[in-house]
Amino acid sequence: MWKTVGYYNGTIGPLEEMMVPMGDRALYFGDGIYEATCVANRIPFALDDHLDRMYNSLRLLEIPFTMSREEVKAELQKVIDAAEDSPVHFLYWQISRGVAMRNHPFPSADVKPTLMIYIKPHTMKPLDKPYHLISMEDIRFKLCNIKTLNLIPSVLANQRAVEQGCDEAVLHRGSRVTECAHSNISILKDGILRTAPADELILPGITRKHLLVLAREHGIPTLEKPFSMVELMNADEIIVTSSSALCMKAASIDRIPVGGKDPKRLKLLQDAYLEKFQRETTPHT
Ligand code: PLP
Repeated sequence: MWKTVGYYNGTIGPLEEMMVPMGDRALYFGDGIYEATCVANRIPFALDDHLDRMYNSLRLLEIPFTMSREEVKAELQKVIDAAEDSPVHFLYWQISRGVAMRNHPFPSADVKPTLMIYIKPHTMKPLDKPYHLISMEDIRFKLCNIKTLNLIPSVLANQRAVEQGCDEAVLHRGSRVTECAHSNISILKDGILRTAPADELILPGITRKHLLVLAREHGIPTLEKPFSMVELMNADEIIVTSSSALCMKAASIDRIPVGGKDPKRLKLLQDAYLEKFQRETTPHT
């Protein structure tokens, strides 16, 4: 057992000792896709949702990955089981198009995709501690619905947020809000939960999807329709969702106070989400 565990194409070891071959196309082109979720009691949360999205990203990038869902689950579980105890772990995995000499077109058919996994201890942020956001123009390409490894605009956006003592960067194309650097964003307005539609401008977040379902289950109507920066600034509450932090409220954007006008509905959604996470990561006896 190790505190942080790495895996590459079947080889497992302490993360800091693992090596990857120089020809892996992830290194040159970001030519691959990834997934990430939290693990509690050695049970990865919402794994089937993540695997659905993983196979969809692979299909859209035409990566000929042949491992079955059950085989991927088994490899992930080996890594989870090799980690030292922690109340929560963060589990990450990526698949690249394979190892070959650098060349833009796809390599020959005998080159097999690679599977890389790591796990580390994770501390979830307290749900009552609000996020502070900055806003930035969304300069990403139009494949945001695919969870590719190409994350440079998001890296830069998140760095700008951190430099300003903030947690996340909310991105907009013109006035239209898309999502955050590594989270989706939704608003509560007049009792309705509203979020951008899952088109090619945003990642179809698993947490976003669950939040929409939970809202409807609790009698909160939902609307998947783009909203503007002005509507964001005037929202009753702002909710930032991601697998690593679940549902966080936002209290400021560019240092201007926002939200705070529908705390009951916000808390209902946060509590419902946490309850779902805890229930689905509790072992069945
Ligand atoms: N949007 C982007 C750009 C992301 O990178 C992520 C997570 O990494 C999300 C949204 C949230 O998605 P999920 O809820 O599936 O973690």
